[in-house]
Parts: sequence; C-alpha cells; structure tokens
Amino acid sequence: MAGLKRIGVFGGAFDPPHVAHHTLARAAIDQFKLDALHIVPTGSAWHKTRTLSAAHHRVAMAQLAFADLAQAFIDTREIERSGVSYTLDTLQELRKEQPQAQLYLFIGQDQAQSFESWHRWQDILEIAQLVVAQRPSESPDAGQWQNGGLLNVQRLAMPALQVSATHVRQCIAQGQSTDAYLLSQVRRYIDQHRLY
Ligand code: ATP
Repeated sequence: MAGLKRIGVFGGAFDPPHVAHHTLARAAIDQFKLDALHIVPTGSAWHKTRTLSAAHHRVAMAQLAFADLAQAFIDTREIERSGVSYTLDTLQELRKEQPQAQLYLFIGQDQAQSFESWHRWQDILEIAQLVVAQRPSESPDAGQWQNGGLLNVQRLAMPALQVSATHVRQCIAQGQSTDAYLLSQVRRYIDQHRLY
C-alpha cells in the first residue's frame, strides 16, 4: 500500500479554534503521515444547537490557527454547501476527487461517544478510517469512551487538554486572558471583530 496518498479530515465548528484543535491536527499529520489534512469548518451542522459565529470569521480564525502546519489547509466545502451538511457528503466528495487515497476521519472522544447517531455512520466507516483523540471529560460521570461497539477504530495519541471552545468564549466574554488556549493572532482577530 506504500505510495497511496493519505488524506485526513478534521471537522469542527472552530468557534474559535483553540490549542487542542491544533494539537490534534499536528498529531494527526505526524502519526498518520498525512499528505494533506483538510480542516473542515462546519456549515449548518445538524448536531449543534447554538448559533455559530459567521462562517467567514470561523474560516479566518482557522486560517490563522493552523497556518504553521504545512499539510493542513482550510477546506470550506461544508460552508459553501447549502442546507444541512453531513460529514458523509464531504468524505464521498473526497473519495471521488481522490479515488486512490486512504482517507482518515479524526474526531475527539466526545464526538466518538455519539458517533453512532451520525447520519449514515456505517457508510462513513466504509469510506474512511475513524481515528479518535482522547479528550478529558468535563463531566466526571462520563468515564472513558470504550470504543462502543465500533470496530476498527484507531486512537490518536495526544496529551489530554482540558479546553473547549465553550470555555474560551466564556473567558473572552468575561475579559479574561486566553493565552493558555488561543494563539495570539486568533485572540487579536477576535478582539478586532468583537466576537463573543
Ligand atoms: P464547543 O465547546 O463549542 O462545543 P469544541 O471545543 O468541542 O467546541 P469543536 O469545534 O466542536 O470544538 O470541535 C472540533 C473537533 O475537535 C471535535 O471532534 C472535538 O471532539 C475535537 N476537540 C475539541 N476540543 C478537544 C480537546 N480538548 N481534546 C480533544 N479533542 C477536542
């Protein structure tokens, strides 16, 4: 199988993109020897109830946040797609564009926990190798995700980082420092555009 292109997909609201997103992306590129990592900001994600910041702001912040990772680029297809957007559609498009590539889908543990509620999740597993990054639980009862019944899931090794975009938005709203969570360029962008 040597020589096959290895393409990763990492989706999220990125509202805003924080240190754990970057750590996950870098670990994905390194551990899975990716030729390219598509960072895919969500459009109208079916599973998020909160109103997201405008897509152009989330794209701009992602461009700043992942700029130093040569293999990563911001893929805006889900934002450009009208209507509800599904990960499966993105993977099917990539499969058509790159029929020979090995596709990897990277998600955090919280997403893994509800993966079996995703639109046509079995079809996702047919197209892409699922890779799960551990994420420290904010709820002490949630415990560790034990793979559910999912077969053939790989793990991404990365340090457990206790950060969420929700917490970062709260810090910003309260005028607190985000030095531990955000790249300074991202914080500057947020302040300039008065987000959150
Ligand atoms: P919010 O708090 O607004 O729900 P979030 O911090 O979970 O946001 P998303 O943009 O929703 O960020 O996440 C994108 C992807 O990154 C998801 O697969 C999520 O599981 C993963 N992720 C986010 N934070 C972490 C973290 N601290 N550790 C590991 N994975 C994470």
